[in-house]
Amino acid sequence: MTTPSARPPLVLGSRNLKKSQEIAEILAPWGFQVVSIANFPQAGEVEEDGTTFAENAAKKAAEPARLLSQWVIGEDSGLMVDALGGQPGVYSARFSGAGATDERNNQKLQQELAGTPLAQRGAGYVCSVALADPTGAIRLRAEGRCRGVIIEEPRGANGFGYDPYFLVPEYHRTFGELSARVKHQLSHRARAFAAFIPRLVALFAQPPA
Ligand code: IMP
Repeated sequence: MTTPSARPPLVLGSRNLKKSQEIAEILAPWGFQVVSIANFPQAGEVEEDGTTFAENAAKKAAEPARLLSQWVIGEDSGLMVDALGGQPGVYSARFSGAGATDERNNQKLQQELAGTPLAQRGAGYVCSVALADPTGAIRLRAEGRCRGVIIEEPRGANGFGYDPYFLVPEYHRTFGELSARVKHQLSHRARAFAAFIPRLVALFAQPPA
């Protein structure tokens, strides 16, 4: 097992720019040096063929970690809609098929929910995080969830993905309307990292001299 050294750089194993930016913002106050996997062209693509967010997050951490001999954070997330039996789930990024975009995914989501009353449009975002050491061994895992309702018309231009349609009832606002500061307090990603960060800090804590 690799012995943790004091605060090595952490490679962020996601190629989703908006998501990576959110993770970097969440980690920033903790003083970790975060490097995007985009800086490592040799890392290639990880096939997201897991059936759970946790499985995919572990793959997105372990495969590049082993290849690059770096500490890597893998993150997998998505939207689970009650009325669709938990879909799109791990297929959230590619819900509308080949060439999927946020716009097409949202169109498909609205088509699938057409005629579903608001009271039955409950949904949850899920985020799974994993940390792999430079040998590819998974050292930490965490998960966070956030409940909301899928509304029919988009509201707000913040965030990404399904955010303009994801209403957080307690705030009467969608993730598209809430500021990054507020989203970083209550989102699935914020909650996953709230559980993950103290353990990350502890893992890299210097032993007493
Ligand atoms: P991944 O990069 O394979 O984990 O795909 C994540 C997908 O889930 C994104 O492309 C979005 O469609 C959706 N998603 C995950 N987190 C969020 C979020 O915070 N806001 C909006 N959509 C999200």
